[in-house]
Amino acid sequence: MEQVNKTALITGAAKGIGKAVALAFAKEGYNIVINYNGSKEAALNTQQEIEALGVKTLVVQADVSDEDQVKTMVEKSIETFERIDVLVNNSGINKDGLMLRMSYEDFHKVIAVNLEGTFNCIKHVSRIMMKQRSGSIINMSSVVGIMGNAGQANYASSKAGVLGLTKSAARELALRHIRVNAIAPGFIETDMTAKLAEKDKAKMMEQIPLRQFGQPEDVANVCVALASDAFKYVTGQTIHVDGGMIM
Ligand code: NAP
Repeated sequence: MEQVNKTALITGAAKGIGKAVALAFAKEGYNIVINYNGSKEAALNTQQEIEALGVKTLVVQADVSDEDQVKTMVEKSIETFERIDVLVNNSGINKDGLMLRMSYEDFHKVIAVNLEGTFNCIKHVSRIMMKQRSGSIINMSSVVGIMGNAGQANYASSKAGVLGLTKSAARELALRHIRVNAIAPGFIETDMTAKLAEKDKAKMMEQIPLRQFGQPEDVANVCVALASDAFKYVTGQTIHVDGGMIM
């Protein structure tokens, strides 16, 4: 493994898309900060898999919706690795339901994790990247943030918000050579989508021109490409990884 002396901080890296993203950056030689919230055991398993690739890791528990916890996570990352080159804001939750029955709590909780959590991480990591005068930030949005979805008013609002946040951050940080982009995955096979009913999955499949669900690695590969110099002239953009659902 070629060491690149770079660090990637991935939120929600214990499982699903975040784990695939962490492994993909580790394969490129990045040291990895593995953030988790509730999944400690899974985070430690991810750590083992990543260290087997020959890079260093730091596992940090933090709820991204809590600014103090995010601040501490970033401080620990710097104490350990001295720099953060890539931030992937991957953490996300959903609490689905039709609006008439959706509680304010369920609306706000999803906004707090998905949108405010992304803001908290950008705020604290961009300080470090501004001093470095370099960095790449990738925010996980969703096709639902673009199309909307019945039963997901909270989730769709949070993911649409992530797109506005991405563009604003891209404009604020561009002069310090920090690029900020978003990825809008379609249907990716993880715990989040495993809970959907088979009939809903079949309906979803009809909307996917490539006629297959995505894998976490499909998103992870795009993250690595976006952070690379091959994309050095790309900022403020949303890359769709959705088998052609949105064109
Ligand atoms: P997942 O398997 O349910 O993973 C969600 C991750 O978010 C977990 O690692 C979880 O960590 C973390 N997380 C949740 N609340 C957190 C908090 N308060 N603080 C820190 N981390 C928190 O889902 P996934 O499918 O991999 O989703 C990853 C991202 O992709 C999400 O932002 C999701 O909205 C987005 N996305 C997914 C799809 C899809 O089809 N799967 C499509 C579009 C967008 P713990 O388990 O440690 O709590």
